Amino acid sequence: MKKTDLIKAWGKILAGQYPSLSIEITRECPLRCPGCYAYEPDHLVGTGQTLRTVSDYKGQELIERVMELIDQYRPVHLSIVGGEPLVRFRELDVLLPKLSKRGLGVQLVTSAVREIPKSWNKIENLYIAVSIDGLQPEHDERRKPATYKRILQNIDGQRVTIHCTVTAQMAGRQGYFEEFLSFWSVRPEVKKVWFSLFTPQMGGTDEEILDPPTRKAVIDELESLKPRFPKLNLPRQVIEGYRKPPSSPADCLFSRTTLNFTADLKSKIVPCQFGGTPDCSQCGCFASAGLKAVGEYKLFGTVPLKKIYRLSDRIGRTVCRVVN
Ligand code: SF4
Ligand code: SF4
Repeated sequence: MKKTDLIKAWGKILAGQYPSLSIEITRECPLRCPGCYAYEPDHLVGTGQTLRTVSDYKGQELIERVMELIDQYRPVHLSIVGGEPLVRFRELDVLLPKLSKRGLGVQLVTSAVREIPKSWNKIENLYIAVSIDGLQPEHDERRKPATYKRILQNIDGQRVTIHCTVTAQMAGRQGYFEEFLSFWSVRPEVKKVWFSLFTPQMGGTDEEILDPPTRKAVIDELESLKPRFPKLNLPRQVIEGYRKPPSSPADCLFSRTTLNFTADLKSKIVPCQFGGTPDCSQCGCFASAGLKAVGEYKLFGTVPLKKIYRLSDRIGRTVCRVVN
């Protein structure tokens, strides 16, 4: 986020609004990734729906309804997730330039299962993150039909961020992340590489879960690889956030500053993009970790920013109640 966007974001908090919006643009996805939180039965907790049963939109109606949400909430930043956003590439071809004209920073998260239109390369403030689940054998097994071969064809000519969610299956092998970084860092299409860590639901028993010693070892290893791989985007603040995640959604600046809509563009996903009851103590979300550390930063060396945020948030919500 640019400095000017941060100032705008703080203004939104003071006005009792959310600076960041995330939209599951479609309920459809041709992949069936193990450990996918979006299709968990409790993802849309409280709605009586799942991402597969919720209604979604297509064509002009989708474009208009998304723009209505943007007009209503006026966010500084928008994440477009899925399902698989490229299922709606025709609609995005119209929407993305419109959002860019509004000066909105947009992050699109995709499996790159189909070609990313070349024209998107020229859209200002658009950031494309491609999800890769480890090295080719594991990835292809988990994310077919979005295989390495297909992704390499589909990102040709683009500038993308590679986003890898670390799971227990990847963590056991020595040199795994070095090999992963060596493969992706040299590619001209790759601007940055991010790692997040698998985040389970409370009481979850998924094979993907990193136990505490493994999680610590992964964080240490990734940190040690930073000097050799300049494209590895793992700021110190994010490392600190991974080491000490927020204790609950109430303690998570990311959850409190982002409003998440599912594909009907009405139902909200709470408490954060994961939905359900995520286990914050094992959170591996890159954005949450980064904001956690920002919250711990002490303004004038004394007052943690999160305290100022809480006060601003309270002021904002009171202002909202008074004026509405
Ligand atoms: S591509 Fe994303 S939304 Fe689709 S199944 Fe995989 S993790 Fe879930
Ligand atoms: S992003 Fe992480 S810390 Fe924040 S509410 Fe979700 S699981 Fe909890």
